[in-house]
Amino acid sequence: MTIAAIIVAAGRGSRAGGALPKQWQMLGPRMVVEHAIAALRPHASRIVVAVHRDDTDRAGRLDDVLVVQGGATRAASVRAALEALAGTDTTGVLIHDAARPFVSTAIIDRVLAAMAVKSGAAPALPVTDALWRGAAGLVSGTADRTGLYRAQTPQGFDYAAILAAHRALSGDAADDVAIARAAGLDVAIVEGEEANFKITHPEDFSRAARMIGEKTVDVRVGNGFDVHAFTVGDGVTLCGVRVAHDRALLGHSDADVGMHALTDAIYGALAEGDIGRHFPPSDPQWKGADSTVFLRHAGARIAERGYRLTQADVTLICERPKIGPHADAMRGTLARILGVETDRISVKATTSERLGFTGREEGIAAMATATLVGGP
Ligand code: MG
Repeated sequence: MTIAAIIVAAGRGSRAGGALPKQWQMLGPRMVVEHAIAALRPHASRIVVAVHRDDTDRAGRLDDVLVVQGGATRAASVRAALEALAGTDTTGVLIHDAARPFVSTAIIDRVLAAMAVKSGAAPALPVTDALWRGAAGLVSGTADRTGLYRAQTPQGFDYAAILAAHRALSGDAADDVAIARAAGLDVAIVEGEEANFKITHPEDFSRAARMIGEKTVDVRVGNGFDVHAFTVGDGVTLCGVRVAHDRALLGHSDADVGMHALTDAIYGALAEGDIGRHFPPSDPQWKGADSTVFLRHAGARIAERGYRLTQADVTLICERPKIGPHADAMRGTLARILGVETDRISVKATTSERLGFTGREEGIAAMATATLVGGP
């Protein structure tokens, strides 16, 4: 299937409050409609946005979309967008409300999967509250909620079939599912999500702003721990700094126990396993490897995942060599590799009071913590 997305942004509804229609209002760093576009972008080869003629200037600020002028009704707006796709290689369309900024990849994937077997598919949630009839402020009856659903978008269809259904429609319809059904198409129900709500009332904006706020303070903390044994030699590499000693550390790579603990702390914060997963010890190319390769990779993953490192703290546990004289050089080296200010990196050391394997000077242990902060 070649999928196009249609974002319906032509409404002038002001029930959500504010001077602008809700889809053009700012929600965090971008407009509501831009959240919807960003959510659909990875799933669609082209995106058409249907807008009211009074909003064409605003729509000009949208990147990499085709803007069409909507009509007097929702159905007319969708029809204009569908007609704009005629002559392209589009075989399927996802039709989405601009005012649903939190549509997830999971919902879109469910709709696309169902479209592979049905001519249409749409997300919905079963009605769980009791349903009443009321008149003059009094309950006048109840209604059975069995088989009732709350409809959401994106609603997905075979392109040719929904275009034909729209061309055959006279008047308006509640949504594209209604139009599809009027044309005799089967529409599968897939699971919706509460977070995929439509911004309608002012309190919906507050809820959306809270959800955006939660994303901006996504804090992740990881820890790492590592041990390497001593062997014969004349020095050790700790946190990237060569320190003279009457022994060396044994390991597959350069055995930089401090850098390994920090690298694992970062992978841990990202829930991406450990060094062994990214650089298998069974692979001979990592034999004797400079551990900066590992830390640099972990640092790149931080950026690729949309986070930044706000602090790291490494504790080296050994009786000897003395770490204190080298700690600042170690901090600077780690900071340079990770591309952060030195004051975000701590390196300190402790002995274990001559107890245990570190106390007997059989090896060095290291523990580390890393904090990552992410935003949308
Ligand atoms: Mg190690």
